[in-house]
Amino acid sequence: MLNLVLFGPPGAGKGTQSENLINHYGLVHISTGDVFRALDPASDLAKLAKSYSDKGDLVPDDVTIQILENEVSKHPNAKGVIYDGFPRTNAQAEALDKFLGKKGDSISMMIALDVAEEELKTRLLKRAEVSGRADDADPEIIENRIANYKRQTAPVADFYKAQGKLRLVNGIGSIDEIFGRICEAVDKG
Ligand code: AMP
Repeated sequence: MLNLVLFGPPGAGKGTQSENLINHYGLVHISTGDVFRALDPASDLAKLAKSYSDKGDLVPDDVTIQILENEVSKHPNAKGVIYDGFPRTNAQAEALDKFLGKKGDSISMMIALDVAEEELKTRLLKRAEVSGRADDADPEIIENRIANYKRQTAPVADFYKAQGKLRLVNGIGSIDEIFGRICEAVDKG
């Protein structure tokens, strides 16, 4: 199986590039952010997730890991999976390894999109015009998301680096240029 972790700060282009990767490699796309946003807004789980995401904070690991495992289990025949926005903490990365390991499966590689901070802020504010996401529209929430990324999420790259699975990709350029770089990294293995 080709299991890719698509990694990078908010606004790095993970969602956009996931769309390309699904078509090119025939993978299932799992975005925990999308799963949270698709929950019935009246449910307790949706309210809990929103209470964190509206502030730009991470949803607690136990809830997120459970959601992810449920989602993966919906695709028993997948050729592979793109994990978009998961894992975002080392605890999530460890849980994912354990979960896949039980099935004799593993992460193939982490593709980490590298984008300068100023560019991220510009992209998120622009995305807010079409996404309707409250967490994209407010500069303070964006700051908090980036701060949380640096503190809680960036260390996850070291987790995969230690396994020899980290592939850094320049995330600046046109969508096609960046996609080309990602494919090159994936095809190299
Ligand atoms: P995203 O669509 O990936 O930007 O995620 C939107 C929001 O959902 C994040 O700011 C978090 O509040 C929450 N979220 C998504 N994925 C995770 C995760 N792996 N761990 C914790 N919270 C998450």
